[in-house]
Amino acid sequence: MTAPLAGAADGPGGPPGPALRATCWGTRGSIPSPGPETIRFGGNTSCVEVRSAGGRCYIFDAGTGIRPLSRRLADAGGVVEADLFVTHFHWDHIQGFPFCTPLYDPGSRIRVHGPRQGDVDISRALAGQMGSIYFPIPLDALAARVEWVHVNGHPWSDAEVEVAAMRVRHAEHTCGYRIRSGGASVAYIPDNELGGAANGEWYDRLVGFLEGVDLLFHDAMFTDGEYDRFRGWGHSTYGQAVRLAEDAGVRRLALFHHAPDRGDDELDALLAGLRADLADRGSPLELSMATEGEEMAVHPAAVGSAR
Ligand SMILES: [Zn+2]
Ligand SMILES: [Zn+2]
Repeated sequence: MTAPLAGAADGPGGPPGPALRATCWGTRGSIPSPGPETIRFGGNTSCVEVRSAGGRCYIFDAGTGIRPLSRRLADAGGVVEADLFVTHFHWDHIQGFPFCTPLYDPGSRIRVHGPRQGDVDISRALAGQMGSIYFPIPLDALAARVEWVHVNGHPWSDAEVEVAAMRVRHAEHTCGYRIRSGGASVAYIPDNELGGAANGEWYDRLVGFLEGVDLLFHDAMFTDGEYDRFRGWGHSTYGQAVRLAEDAGVRRLALFHHAPDRGDDELDALLAGLRADLADRGSPLELSMATEGEEMAVHPAAVGSAR
């Protein structure tokens, strides 16, 4: 959006507003999971919005959470301009794309970034799920001005932010992203199997990629007890995600991509146990379960809930 998000900056004479502001629109992994048991942490699949201090809109993944986000964008009026960064093309990360209403408005300008899948470019990957067997409206019916940008190993930047990508351990070519602006940073890695990766060359690069990040959204789908059954499925445990965040000196970790059958009460209990362990060890890491609807203000050296 061109207009700044309401409350994105404090008034004249007040303290400066946050450099970045992150909002969770979908926190669930694999498949939408609506219902009374998931009402607090949310049932929509992966979608996080990040706003720069100037109010520009950066969207990470187009899971079903992008539908309520796009409604918010449309309701705000004016021209919708946004950059969408897709990590990969599993359903839970793209299923909301055809329901992103600004794509049908000729006034909208959307840049879609993502990793080419072998010789399949990103527009073709998204066109696949809009083929006539699966969906009534084809990709070429989109009226918005859409620009396709392939992740190419170099950071992408505009006047307000820099976005870097790193290939992570998941099916096909899956990226994690890091967005920086005004000395603050947010990283988004919804699908990544850390497994026994610690101490390897890839793990060291990942730690470097995340070094000092203020807010990290990271895959945490399994408990340690569950992991043996799901080894090789492309996802991490809670403990592995916490260890990565501590190794990289991340300030706040929001555990993300909740398993579809994991209810709110179980997530609360898991979070309490993980926080108790951090307190026992005197770890400075702030820890939360990513929560649909939660908005987080990200200052260069501090993160606080905006709610
Ligand atoms: Zn996923
Ligand atoms: Zn996936």
